[in-house]
Order: sequence, then C-alpha cells, then structure tokens
Amino acid sequence: MPQLINTTTSNLNIKNIKYLIKKYQSPFWVYDANIIYNKIQLLKQFDIIRFAQKACSNTHILQLMRKNNLKVDAVSLGEIQRALSAGFKKNSDEIIFTADLFDKETLSKIIKYNIPVNAGSLDMLKQLGSISPGHHIWLRINPKFGYGHSKKTNTGGENSKHGIWDPSLAIPIIKKYNLKLIGLHMHIGSGVNYEHLKKVCHAMIKSAIQINKKIIFISAGGGLPIPYKFNEKPINIKKYFALWDQARNKISQFLKTPIQLEIEPGRFLVAESGVLVSQVRAIKKMGNKNFVLIDAGFNDLMRPTMYGSYHHISVIPSNNRKINEYKTIETVIGGPLCESGDIFTQKEGGNIETRTLPIMQIGDYLIFHDTGAYGASMSSNYNTRPLIQEILIENNTFKTIRRRQTIEELLSLEQ
Ligand SMILES: *Cc1c(COP(=O)(O)O)cnc(C)c1O
Repeated sequence: MPQLINTTTSNLNIKNIKYLIKKYQSPFWVYDANIIYNKIQLLKQFDIIRFAQKACSNTHILQLMRKNNLKVDAVSLGEIQRALSAGFKKNSDEIIFTADLFDKETLSKIIKYNIPVNAGSLDMLKQLGSISPGHHIWLRINPKFGYGHSKKTNTGGENSKHGIWDPSLAIPIIKKYNLKLIGLHMHIGSGVNYEHLKKVCHAMIKSAIQINKKIIFISAGGGLPIPYKFNEKPINIKKYFALWDQARNKISQFLKTPIQLEIEPGRFLVAESGVLVSQVRAIKKMGNKNFVLIDAGFNDLMRPTMYGSYHHISVIPSNNRKINEYKTIETVIGGPLCESGDIFTQKEGGNIETRTLPIMQIGDYLIFHDTGAYGASMSSNYNTRPLIQEILIENNTFKTIRRRQTIEELLSLEQ
C-alpha cells in the first residue's frame, strides 16, 4: 500500500513529517528515539548489547545508546573518536575496535586509549602485541561458511575477508606477546535462518573447545534482520537467544568459568527508527516508463544502488489533494546524480524495477522507510553534494542532530 505511515504508535507519522517538511529543506533524515528504545528492550536478555555504530554513527544516537547502558563497536579511528565524544570511556570495554587490519594512526591511538581489540587477522595480533604486551583482545573467527542478505554482506567462508580462519594459529602469538584473550566473536552477515544459526553456534562451541583458554565473553555478532517488506516476519528473538544461550552454557561448562553473552546489532536497533524525506522535482516518460525524479540520490541513500535493497516508499502530497490508493501507476524512482545507477527501485545486479505508486505531482514528498540503518552513515559527497540534515524526535521535541553540510565546507578542504 503506497500511502502508509503508522499514525498511532510512531512519531514518524504524517503530522510530524508535514511539520518537518515546512521547517527543513528537503531532503533530510528523521529518527524516532522511541523506536530505538523499544528495540533495545527486545534484547534485554543478553548480558551485553554492543551497538555496531557503523549502521548509524551520529553522536546523538550514540549518546542515546550509552544512556541505555549499551556498549559500542568501532571499526575505524573516526568511530572510536565518535564513541569517545558521545561519552563512552577509554581504558574500559565500553568501546571495542573490530577490524581485519590496523593502519598506523589507529594502532597508536588504540594503545593510547587502551581500547580492547577484536582482531580479524594474525597480523593485527603481532602488530599490537609487539608494542602493547598485555593488551586485551578478542578473536574474530571466520566459521568457514557465511550468510548475508547479499553477496556484499556475506561475512564468512572463503570469499570473505573477515576474521581468522584457523584461530589455533593465534595461540602462539598471544603467548609470545602475553596478550590477554578475553573473548571470541563471530559475525555472520545479515539475515537469520535458524538452521544456519545452529551451525554458527556449533562453530563457536568448536572454536572455544579448540582454543581452550579461559575467556570471559562470547559475541554473537550482529546480522539480526528487520522486516523491510510488509510480508516479512520479524525475527524471533527468544529463539535466537535460546540458541546462543545454549552455546554459551556449553562453553561455560567446558571451560569451567562463567561466560557473558554479548550481541552486536546495528541494523536491528536503528533501521526502523529512521526515514528519508525527499521531494519530487521532475516527472517524465521514457517510452512507456514513468520516471519520478527526486532531490535525494544514492549519495544520500546508497542501499538500493549498492545491494538492490528494497525500501518501502510512501507519498505525502504537497497540496490538499487526497492520495487515491487505488489510482496507481508503475513508477521508477530516480535521483539527481549524473549516474544511471541512481535509481531507488532496482534489484541486486542493477535491474531496474517499477513500483506501484500513486500518481504524483511535482512538489509531493516521498518517504523512504526503514532507512535508519546504513542510510546517513553510508552517505557520500559524490557529485559535490553536501551531507544532509539529521533530525531526532525524542520526548515530543524535534532536534537537529546534524545540520546540512555547506558547499563551502567541502571546498575548504582544497584550499
Ligand atoms: C556490520 C557489523 C555488525 C552489525 O551488522 P548488522 O547487520 O547491522 O546487525 C556487527 N558486528 C560487526 C563486526 C560488523 O562489522
């Protein structure tokens, strides 16, 4: 159904969005803090929830996570600095750095701030150990098989660059440098199939037994899916937890030590909390195809172009006319970029699709739903387009949590 924004349970309702449209220059992102709180509640069974901030790394979102006792994952020096500026503490495990390599600057800051490292390669262990003996580390293990919503998000198996293939090879390095192994981690792409999950849990148990060191934590990684389409079911968290809890208990029994179970979601916590608001600026026919062109491009929302991802789209008319849900037209939605891939209605591999949408007029607004994860955080300056505003709705207040970048700011880097 083209025109559907949940008007009862969410702040992302038509009234609020119409208010914002009057106030702010399109396009912009809007997040509803309540939706994030509700998602956090669903994961309370886990001992530690660690937000994978790359999904939505705005410092105000990170502060919100911190106030709710979440910890945070960082995958770059920039993300470490974001976490620190949002109030997460150094010299603790509030921030963990996960990567498959260190650049020199990041390595030196990690040692300075004393941030635990979740290492995805043996070289990381050597480089860290040789200058920071005793450093707290996790091993990110490649379970030798993968899963993901797209080839580009599959994070296990021979075609993945992530993780350590044979963790037993890490043991002599850990010994040599006196590194402190505190946890094991597996992150297997995005999407959940419970049979597949059993295999992952089993691989974690096997690795823990093989390594046979008294660790404190295991991490289930992220990858919890959300229903992007109306006919998709939300994940069964109870079932998900139960499988990991079983694995934790087996490892705990084997090692004769308590093990804390950590989960590291990105998408699950924030995807549904965010929308992208954009405006229709041109409508044209290409042969028999109806194209609607909007003021947001794949530099703003990358997922459809990058993965062929589906986002539900709804329409808010710019005037007082009523949208007739039954008077629809097959529509291709494109952006302003000088790039033929700048199409929001495409499948993986770049095949252009149409979407059944109401007949639109210039000036109408298009809302891209469930774009709180990998939306703003994947944006770029391609075509010299400034990053757009982010607005957070919290306790019935609207707060700009990132202003629009200026073109002068972009140019100043080159002066
Ligand atoms: C990306 C990532 C996550 C989060 O993935 P989601 O699919 O957003 O939950 C978690 N852990 C690591 C190491 C990641 O790289």
